[in-house]
Amino acid sequence: MNIVRVWEGTEVVFSIRFNKRQKRIIIRPSDTRRFLVTAPRSASRAMIGTVIDEHAHDLMKMEPPIDVLEEMIRTGNALVFGETRRLVFSESVREPANTTSCLHVREGAQGQRKKALKKQFNTMLDATLSPVKHTLLRRLRLHDDDVEIGYRLMKSRFGSCNAVRKRITLNTELVHYPRRCSIYVLAHELAHLIHPDHSSRFKATLAGLVEDSEQTDRMMKTLRAHLLAGRFECFSETAASWRDQTRRTT
Ligand SMILES: [Zn+2]
Repeated sequence: MNIVRVWEGTEVVFSIRFNKRQKRIIIRPSDTRRFLVTAPRSASRAMIGTVIDEHAHDLMKMEPPIDVLEEMIRTGNALVFGETRRLVFSESVREPANTTSCLHVREGAQGQRKKALKKQFNTMLDATLSPVKHTLLRRLRLHDDDVEIGYRLMKSRFGSCNAVRKRITLNTELVHYPRRCSIYVLAHELAHLIHPDHSSRFKATLAGLVEDSEQTDRMMKTLRAHLLAGRFECFSETAASWRDQTRRTT
């Protein structure tokens, strides 16, 4: 279902998707003059139209998100666990010898750099999270072998949990954020293996796994806004000051 508006003489399309787990109407730019609207099932077309019109002024100013991997390749700067690294593609890299200033990525076949970069990011994320997964599962008294973690690029979520198949999917994008963010998302999704909702029991379980969930959640929203707008420098500065802050208080 689409809603169309004409703003300043140009047609703007709002594609609407319903999501039964959602409580509010969320509108975000998906492309030039295109928006994606996700709404709870109870929201009517008229209701969504009203929300769009009420926020027209702010929506008009919003930019569509950038393709983060393409932007990193273009600028030669990669964000890895909250820090900026110079991105170097080379044919000879087998086991990437990575330093704190450079990220070496093996040149992709036929110049498929984006694919090569994504693969490497998934590997790095897994290397960080695999050991954590064991610890978290032990705390949840769940068996390790049953739970599988997959990584892929996701547009609107950091992670998802299929409690029946015991499969967690994490967004490749998490590799850009400070480590505690990806650990928080993993813990959050693992806690969903026990509680499917966000009830107080879920929150209590999550609190037993990681500290400061809500603060981390808020910080990730701020960081994500920087990331999707291509403000990589703001991203790493914000991540660094947050790291210093949490270091002082813990
Ligand atoms: Zn959740």
